[in-house]
Amino acid sequence: MENQFGINTLAIHAGEAPDPATGALVPPLHLANTFFLGSAEEGAAIFAGEKAGYVYSRWGNPTVDILQTRVAALENAQAALATASGMAAISTALLNVVRAGDHIVAAKAIYPSTFHLMQSELHALGIATTFVDATDARNIERAIQPNTKVIYLESPGNPILALCDLRAVAALAKSRGITTICDNTFATPINQRPLDFGIDVVVHSATKYFGGHGDAVGGVIAGSREIIKRCADEPLRFFGGILAPFNAYLILRGIQTLPLRMERHNANAFAVARHLEKQHAVKWVSYPGLESHPQFALAQKQMRGFGGMVCFELHGGLDAGAHLMNAVKLCSLAVSLGDTRTLIVHPASTTHSVVSRAERESQGVTDGLVRLSVGLEDVDDIVADLERGLD
Ligand SMILES: *Cc1c(COP(=O)(O)O)cnc(C)c1O
Repeated sequence: MENQFGINTLAIHAGEAPDPATGALVPPLHLANTFFLGSAEEGAAIFAGEKAGYVYSRWGNPTVDILQTRVAALENAQAALATASGMAAISTALLNVVRAGDHIVAAKAIYPSTFHLMQSELHALGIATTFVDATDARNIERAIQPNTKVIYLESPGNPILALCDLRAVAALAKSRGITTICDNTFATPINQRPLDFGIDVVVHSATKYFGGHGDAVGGVIAGSREIIKRCADEPLRFFGGILAPFNAYLILRGIQTLPLRMERHNANAFAVARHLEKQHAVKWVSYPGLESHPQFALAQKQMRGFGGMVCFELHGGLDAGAHLMNAVKLCSLAVSLGDTRTLIVHPASTTHSVVSRAERESQGVTDGLVRLSVGLEDVDDIVADLERGLD
């Protein structure tokens, strides 16, 4: 069915079938950590891979499987693999490819924990990373070394919403035999499908738009059957960062309304971005749908919608950022994103406070930068709340 239906239908039905035991339409929540093997012979056949069957939930779980099939359908991927968190998806996808002595070229304006993973944790394992301004594919090309195994992108990137030309980078990597990984958390497959442009692997924090209701942490990797099988059989199975069935259940529930929610996130964020552009207290606004975005043309080419994330710079720097955080009432001062609620953060004093000022500024995170995850409330209410803080 995956190729016959539209994305709204897939978000509701892909991977689902009435439960054969009861006829229940809602996917059963299978909490079992181990499964009856039948007989010694059947068990041997399952272990040998000759017979399909579940053995142990770290190796596979029926509720988690439905989520995997659904995300694969949405991302137009052959297969997908669910993980305990977005970071587990990213570390699994990377460790599936890189070994000690290998090299990664990564966009520098990325999720801070991903930056730390590469700069500290992977570095300690003998895996080096060169961070580049990935808005220009030529910077990526110049950083490639003979031992480069992965090009890592995030588009739109956290927090300033810089884009990478996915088609150009995929073509460059293919010609050099390098694996491309793209974090598609901000866009979601509703707004952008990196695999359609030739990217090899997509990673997600399902904690954000997929779950969509701020109540589950999870991650997903999507790509070719071969890559996903290797991720499942090696790094995920043995490092162990699998998704709990209950979280798979919640995320599956969330995904049913993903296309509908993204429509509203897109519309609300666009309206908020346009409004902010007119405010005297605001120096600039970054939103890929605005003509003022430096990569507006690229956004038109590779995105179908521009997402729910908006960021802007206040004239008043750190103090103005702190004032706004304390003045808003409807917008919640909180990290994370993709919630039904509007969330607001001031990265310089929170998410990026652990990053040195020089590094912060090289990623575009200035003192007055504010990041908004525009929610599903009435847009007039969101705008009125922000205006109160900007006055
Ligand atoms: C939140 C986030 C992550 C990490 O996901 P967790 O579920 O918190 O582990 C990675 N990338 C992006 C873009 C994110 O927003």
